[in-house]
Amino acid sequence: MSRFWRPGSERPQPSSLSVLEDDEPGFLPFSTLASNSSYGYGGLERHRQRLPVFKYRTAILYLLETHATTIIVGETGSGKTTQIPQYLKEAGWADGGRVVVCTQPRRLAVQTVASRVAEEMDVKLGEEVGYTIRFEDLTKSAVTRIKFLTDGVLLREMMDDPLLSKYSVVMVDEAHERSLSTDMLLGLLKKIQRRRPELRLIISSATIEAKSIAAFFNQSKKKLPASRDFGPSREPAILSVEGRGYDVQIHFLEEPVSNYLQAAVSTVLDIHNQEPMGDVLVFLTGQDDIDAAVQMLTDEAQNLAAHRSGLLVLPLYAGLSRAEQELVFSPTPRGKRKVVIATNIAETSLTLEGMVYVVDSGFSKQRFYNPITDIESLVVAPISKASARQRAGRAGRVRPGKCFRLYTEEYFESEMPLEGIPEMQRSNLVSCVIQLKALGIDNILGFDWLASPSPEGMIRALEVLYSLGILDEDSKLTSPTGFQVAEMPLDPMLSRMIISGSQFGCSEEMIIIAAFLSLQSIWVIGRGTQKELDEAKQGFAVAEGDHITYLNVYKGFLLSGKSSQWCHKNLINYQAMKKVLEIREQLHKLVQRLGLVLKSCGQDTQVVRKAITSGFFAHACRLESSSHGGMYKTIRTSQEVYIHPSSVLFRVTPKWVVYHSLVSTDCQYMRNVIAVDSSWFTELAPHFFQI
Ligand code: ADP
Ligand code: MG
Repeated sequence: MSRFWRPGSERPQPSSLSVLEDDEPGFLPFSTLASNSSYGYGGLERHRQRLPVFKYRTAILYLLETHATTIIVGETGSGKTTQIPQYLKEAGWADGGRVVVCTQPRRLAVQTVASRVAEEMDVKLGEEVGYTIRFEDLTKSAVTRIKFLTDGVLLREMMDDPLLSKYSVVMVDEAHERSLSTDMLLGLLKKIQRRRPELRLIISSATIEAKSIAAFFNQSKKKLPASRDFGPSREPAILSVEGRGYDVQIHFLEEPVSNYLQAAVSTVLDIHNQEPMGDVLVFLTGQDDIDAAVQMLTDEAQNLAAHRSGLLVLPLYAGLSRAEQELVFSPTPRGKRKVVIATNIAETSLTLEGMVYVVDSGFSKQRFYNPITDIESLVVAPISKASARQRAGRAGRVRPGKCFRLYTEEYFESEMPLEGIPEMQRSNLVSCVIQLKALGIDNILGFDWLASPSPEGMIRALEVLYSLGILDEDSKLTSPTGFQVAEMPLDPMLSRMIISGSQFGCSEEMIIIAAFLSLQSIWVIGRGTQKELDEAKQGFAVAEGDHITYLNVYKGFLLSGKSSQWCHKNLINYQAMKKVLEIREQLHKLVQRLGLVLKSCGQDTQVVRKAITSGFFAHACRLESSSHGGMYKTIRTSQEVYIHPSSVLFRVTPKWVVYHSLVSTDCQYMRNVIAVDSSWFTELAPHFFQI
């Protein structure tokens, strides 16, 4: 059993009992916990008025009236996201055909928040309240008054409507997350404000970084035409919403653990065995470790004696079906203890009611890009102190709670960074550059950034875009390719691959592949053993690689009449396949709109692999040794990379490959790999492979 101690109390001797046992309960009775979904409409109204932000309703509306920019800082759960857009609508900001828009960094947050607001307003989602995420638009242009969307989608909307003229108020939510798109958006909105003095901005955040954002948006010293001297103050207003969180006792591990997954599972079991009722929120890093933990806990729960069971274990990450999402938010049945195992989406974006215990692994999945090696990968990395505080705060929403940190206090104090690094400074900038170029911003390093991207990263991005034929020698978008790529809501390498597909006569295959690559995985994880899964995959696998294997899965699915039984039998996730169909459909429309040729190449897999290579040549690798599932080196920078065990090429190890993405754990693994011919590199990307 992992040992925790509480700072401020005497550090337990190695032989003494864990502090888990000597805490007085003294909680509110569990039955008083409000679970929203069981409220009637009148109940929801009362719930709204009890939220901390309600006391500030008038103040918020006044500041909005008098200031171009208002920054609102408030504890997670205080009602910023769900309430403020409703206040704005009630006050008339959505009258006369105008729309109030609110951005979120994450898609899942967009969906759940929009549906919550629709429920509170007692309207059908997609009518007065709607949302837009990539590949899914649930709004009606003449009807929707409050719209939630991802920050990335709002950036795309700027291409058609650079001044965002439909919107009266833009609320940039979760600004503390500093996602790449949020940072771009803030810079662009500042420009728009100069052209549209009537536009109002709300920037909301869970942590106090308000001063630097306020300084960024302070336009009061800039000279504007005299005619603009009336109207709202150009100095931003800052408002802090007093939260009403309860105390959370923090417990650290006495000794570091090497396996945070195992530690998380045993901590949940300890809580279940020793602590009074109350739900548990566990922070892990991604689908893989969350599914594993759910499985381990479900197995354990079955082994527990009948009177002890009562654990309801649920995952929470992007890509869950609607039904799975709803389970997480629905009230915990009487006598049960809900355990939600989540990514850092539950840190500030979503509010889960009734959480009393938090288990914090201390890690999250983060994107890191190294401009020297030109490698971007998803890495399980330590979180910051700011994140750790937010995570702990989730335990004190409805009554005093406890947070169990799966790391030591020494580690927290001396090694955890104070704050995370903005995504801007740890991402590949290729998409960012194209989007800014498409918006007419040529001098990207000179752009007004909240935090500047690294010059090396920028140079790398320009280089790659030039060799993809998206930018010309003067760093302008090429026509038509550059402009077409900018129109596609995809990674530019994928877009380039689709455009090549239309030139090579295999665009139908390319959009199917692009749809598959947009999903995490199409295989069912958790049901059946690894061996069974491997066998299921073998039914479709080909030596050309994963992309071609996906084409076979797609054909099989269509032949089966899109049957869910067929998916079940082949350990394929039916929901994921439905998503593939949907995305393929969307891409089909897009490709038609761009005037690209839609054609299938039939059985010719060589032309398919060539088209993929023309988008992904920067990810070309050569086999160095065939042991350990094949050790490869990237051609560009000679980095060691390996084929991921989930790839159909894991045991095939062709001489030359191109990968789609890298994940790093103990080493860099290539996911979604195809075998290629080295002569294609110089043919398809001569600038890139001069040597
Ligand atoms: P903030 O944006 O300040 O973090 P929210 O507006 O998201 O806060 O949430 C305010 C309150 O609304 C929460 O405390 C919770 O009670 C309720 N709530 C929000 N989303 C949901 C949901 N999907 N289901 C049930 N209740 C919700
Ligand atoms: Mg929020």
